[in-house]
Amino acid sequence: MKKLVIIFLLLSSTTVTAEAWDLNYEVSNLYNGGTSTLTRHFAPEVLYGLAEVQYKLSQQSGVHPIFLISADNIANAYAFQDRGKPVILLTIPIIRALQNDVDAVAAVIGHELAHLKLSHLFSGQMTNLVINLLELFARKEIDSGLSGTGRAVADVVAQLSADAAKGFYSREDEYEADAAGVQYMIAAGYNPEGAIRLHQILNQSNASFFSTHPTSSERITRIYALAGQGRNNQPTHNNYSPNINSRLPACSGNNVQTWTNCYGVATWPNGSKYEGEFANGQPHGQGSVWLSNGNTYVGQLKYGLAHGQGTYTWGPGSNSGDYYVGGFINDKMHGQGTYTYSNGQIVRGVFANDKFVR
Ligand SMILES: [Zn+2]
Repeated sequence: MKKLVIIFLLLSSTTVTAEAWDLNYEVSNLYNGGTSTLTRHFAPEVLYGLAEVQYKLSQQSGVHPIFLISADNIANAYAFQDRGKPVILLTIPIIRALQNDVDAVAAVIGHELAHLKLSHLFSGQMTNLVINLLELFARKEIDSGLSGTGRAVADVVAQLSADAAKGFYSREDEYEADAAGVQYMIAAGYNPEGAIRLHQILNQSNASFFSTHPTSSERITRIYALAGQGRNNQPTHNNYSPNINSRLPACSGNNVQTWTNCYGVATWPNGSKYEGEFANGQPHGQGSVWLSNGNTYVGQLKYGLAHGQGTYTWGPGSNSGDYYVGGFINDKMHGQGTYTYSNGQIVRGVFANDKFVR
């Protein structure tokens, strides 16, 4: 394991232009009836939700970082040490991209916590990184009195990302962080499929996440395997506390055909499994499907069929490793969507009846 190097220095105080906020400080402000600038960017529920995810995963990892949100225009997440204090920083765009998917949020926070827990270090040009930081400190005026150095550090990191960060994790570190992150997720009650969706969402958004957290087909394969392991740990009966994404109560009774307007887990004799909302005994609403052939679907359903917005992922077999994110009608790709082949090739546009149109 690599030794952790503290890369941030404290300089004298003047004024600051840094735009970064301490999530827990802002949330406790809101709880106490105060205001937060962050509500210009996010509904208070999103902020409470973030704080909850961060708290639960910190408990699991045993690392309790300062959690910063920065006003940067690039979707990324960072984990670093500020004079011995662990810090996780998420930019506003990455939260925006993930805010409707609590499991994907848990995946990114779990992943960053794992980097801290495992003392991973940005490899590559450490010297350049330090030089860049020193340049930034020289150029910028830093106020150490403003909510600690967190804000100044956040600003530096945001600048670094804007300048295309020179640092990145090694592939081995990424595998390790994915594995540990998924373990935290499962232990905290999140769906490990969120790790897959994190990859998919960031892949199709304008994110620089993969510039600092390098990905590869090998990494994706491993994430699928990790999420699959976690799936086996999920409950296979209906004693399931509703996912916080669903406002519906837990389904009761063992007869799935009677389930309606509730949230539950059902397994079919052929091995296919569904977790999500039900109506009239059928998967209906928001849910996740694991088909016996290894294909998965996460999204909206209408009486057992993919219908609305969702993500379909092909397991082993034909189209293995491909996935589609976008609109569905009656189980077919239909509407605006993005089809990503396992080799990374992307087809984006309008689909109709399972086929790409334009
Ligand atoms: Zn990483």
